[in-house]
Amino acid sequence: MVKPLKDIIDEHRELNERNKRLIKDVLKWKKTARYDDLTGLMRRGTFDTLMERLVQRSKRIGTPLSYILVDIDHFKKVNDTYGHDTGDEVLKEVSYLLNEGIRYSDIVARKFTGRIGGEEIALVLPGTDSKGASVVAERLRKSIEKHFKGKKVKITISAGVSSYTPEEGEGVSKVPLELYKTADKKLYEAKDSGRNKVVY
Ligand code: GH3
Ligand code: MG
Ligand code: MG
Repeated sequence: MVKPLKDIIDEHRELNERNKRLIKDVLKWKKTARYDDLTGLMRRGTFDTLMERLVQRSKRIGTPLSYILVDIDHFKKVNDTYGHDTGDEVLKEVSYLLNEGIRYSDIVARKFTGRIGGEEIALVLPGTDSKGASVVAERLRKSIEKHFKGKKVKITISAGVSSYTPEEGEGVSKVPLELYKTADKKLYEAKDSGRNKVVY
């Protein structure tokens, strides 16, 4: 029996709609695979891949690049005192401030932000040297302190800064990992020396 034309058109339309929904789902899934649900920042894997590319590019064209590693001070206490939901809100706010603050300024043309641990956030600043990055980190630290000043939960951050300079040359290997390790060491110096601090 031959199918009526109307049924074929209806089936075709239904298939089209299903396809559209599928494409939408895949795009959404791809986005959530790359970005963290809570903060909207890049996930670690995405961020590391991007950083790898940016470092390669810096080496090729001979420009500096800086890396800032941020950790919220005494965050465990925030969760313990006010609950995990408040902790989540704080993390969202801090992420927003780090991501939106100091964009296209006199110091930094571009920066990329990723959530690389629980409450550890990293920023990569292509084209910015260590001096510029330390100014940026210090401004971010101050802006967060100021933002939470009159609020119920007082929040501060500590940060470690590390940089790649073109003088280090093409031969430097595993630069992203070295940048992370150095920044992590500086971050712990900041924690050890009292927190709410930037070490570079
Ligand atoms: P320090 O100043 O030394 O950094 O102290 P700290 O308490 O912040 O110590 P640490 O950085 O080691 O602790 C991280 C805490 O962050 C522990 C964990 O419960 C909390 N945390 C990590 N991820 C999340 C999250 O997604 N949401 C919430 N609410 N808390 C988180
Ligand atoms: Mg931490
Ligand atoms: Mg912490």
